[in-house]
Amino acid sequence: MIRTRFAPSPNGPLHLGHAYAAVVAHDLARAGGGEFGVRIEDIDGARSRAEFAGQALEDLAWLGLAADGPVSRQSANLARYAAAGEQLMALGLLYPCSCTRREVAEAAIDRGPDGPIYPGTCRGRTAQPGDDVAWRIDMARASDMAGPLWWDDAVAGRQRARPEMFGDVVLLRKEAPASYHLAATLDDAADGITLVTRGSDLFHASHIHRLLQELLGLPVPTWHHHGLLVEADGRKLAKRRGSPALADLRRAGDDGPALADRLRAGLLPAGLSLAEGLYLPA
Ligand code: GLU
Repeated sequence: MIRTRFAPSPNGPLHLGHAYAAVVAHDLARAGGGEFGVRIEDIDGARSRAEFAGQALEDLAWLGLAADGPVSRQSANLARYAAAGEQLMALGLLYPCSCTRREVAEAAIDRGPDGPIYPGTCRGRTAQPGDDVAWRIDMARASDMAGPLWWDDAVAGRQRARPEMFGDVVLLRKEAPASYHLAATLDDAADGITLVTRGSDLFHASHIHRLLQELLGLPVPTWHHHGLLVEADGRKLAKRRGSPALADLRRAGDDGPALADRLRAGLLPAGLSLAEGLYLPA
């Protein structure tokens, strides 16, 4: 059975872009006679707030897009991330790194989809228990071990996995139990997601996720990366640039299901449009 998901990070209030993503995930599940899952991605200790998670679930209920089955939360899955970290360590694919963001930016000679590519300064290093380090994947080695991989996007078609374009990304972070890539990949598998639904700004992340699935022996879903709502300047919606919070519309008495229907029909507020295709940050 098909199972899709909407996976907000409760770092701020949901806005219309989130509503659109939830509509897409919900409707794809319904169209396939399947289930719509919701996962709260709440392991960013510095930014994640319980109040935003609560609001997000109220917003979804208001839109008529409540989850089928229990809502999952990343903060409940820390043991899963630690176990996968051990698995990757046992394969000899992780190395400790204490470089700061600034050091990486200064030493990088290339940029990947997520920013500067780590030049591998700490590759070959070892750590003592208790060292305050992040753990990076040796991407070239991991790709060699996995062999050639492909993944299927319902919109963009079959893709050859090219995780190397990211370089040695961090999988276990210093300040959080796991990186987005590791946590989302593990949770999609554990939540039984068969169709990973998300915005095209995360399209490239799937190259890494496909590799992790192979290394960790996880089931391989299909992906559906949808277009993003963008403002007149082509940048994606963000609360800090004035896109209204769903919670404010809800509290002002707006009709949630009618809003969801307008998004379905492509009827967007003035100044907003739907950017199809890959989103490249301006
Ligand atoms: N938590 C991410 C976000 O709010 C989405 C991650 C995903 O859908 O894989 O942007």
